[in-house]
Amino acid sequence: MKHWQGIINEYRQYMPVSDSTPVISLCEGNTPLIYSCNLSEITGFKVYLKYEGLNPTGSFKDRGMTMAITKAVESGAKSVICASTGNTSASMAAYSARAGIKSYVLIPDGYVALGKLAQATIHGAQVIKIKGNFDKALEMVIDISSKYPIALVNSVNPFRIEGQKSGAFEVCGQLGQSPDALVIPVGNAGNITAYWKGFKEFKNADKISYLPKMIGFQAEGSAPIVRGHKVDNPDTIATAIRIGNPASWKFATQALQESNGYINMVSDEEILKAYNVLTKKDGVFCEPASAASVAGLLKYHDKLNLKKGSVVVCVLTGHGLKDPNIAISQSSEIDEAIEPTLDNIVEKINF
Ligand SMILES: *Cc1c(COP(=O)(O)O)cnc(C)c1O
Repeated sequence: MKHWQGIINEYRQYMPVSDSTPVISLCEGNTPLIYSCNLSEITGFKVYLKYEGLNPTGSFKDRGMTMAITKAVESGAKSVICASTGNTSASMAAYSARAGIKSYVLIPDGYVALGKLAQATIHGAQVIKIKGNFDKALEMVIDISSKYPIALVNSVNPFRIEGQKSGAFEVCGQLGQSPDALVIPVGNAGNITAYWKGFKEFKNADKISYLPKMIGFQAEGSAPIVRGHKVDNPDTIATAIRIGNPASWKFATQALQESNGYINMVSDEEILKAYNVLTKKDGVFCEPASAASVAGLLKYHDKLNLKKGSVVVCVLTGHGLKDPNIAISQSSEIDEAIEPTLDNIVEKINF
């Protein structure tokens, strides 16, 4: 068996690279597609979880970042910049470290999960906090990268989308066919755009015979696409999708239309319920934003126009360890330490 060498080498013919492109990879991709007995039972579909939390930095952002950093290095860039709700910066920091280039990130003060911030700083990214939200940060880095010699690696960078479309390729490879529907959380809308592009390319290459329905879910407090207008002060515990003016809005709308898809929103309470269902019934730990896909499936499964037994893939975009504060807030408190006697311990156990 060949050793997995990351999404660029694996899907080279679909990627914008040549033989001389210096591939910067951490062997991202090849993440598990896990069958969910519980969600299948509840919905009547065959539900699979694409566990993107198992990428090298713990989110799907690595698929796009390997491509974006590879192309930045190929073009001679010495530094890169992004705006981030956390995972883009974690990924950028790791791939930049590997490439030996400098990285800078603008983050909204107070709204980046602890694990993500730790990743950005430990890999040596320069973190710049701003008094403003993600949308403001993105506006700033677009402006800066247009005026100064620094490469922008947000998903407005088309190479990010090229890399991220590999998620669709993998799902088709793992199922041996296209799913009937792909369910995905939507923030800046780069990922839904990328998956749709990937499915279409596989269809054109005759790797699959039909295209899936694209189904997106946003958080109620930051659901611009669902509501049909920008949201000025987006708010949700799912910080990775706390975005009021998605950069790929237009492409997301296209994907939804072309695939006869569906988009709606879920509340923070519903997101946390799905998060708990996944951890407790499936043994799968994802971050809150990822659970929005499952929350939407649980809430709207009979509105999706899908037959019983349809193959449905939920993309779990990031790992649960990214946001330990939410995990702890959802768990019961641990009792004070006790004397280690047999009686004391036995008393705690429900045999
Ligand atoms: C970035 C991110 C999203 C949103 O993806 P978009 O491409 O911005 O729509 C969802 N979940 C997690 C964990 C993310 O890091």
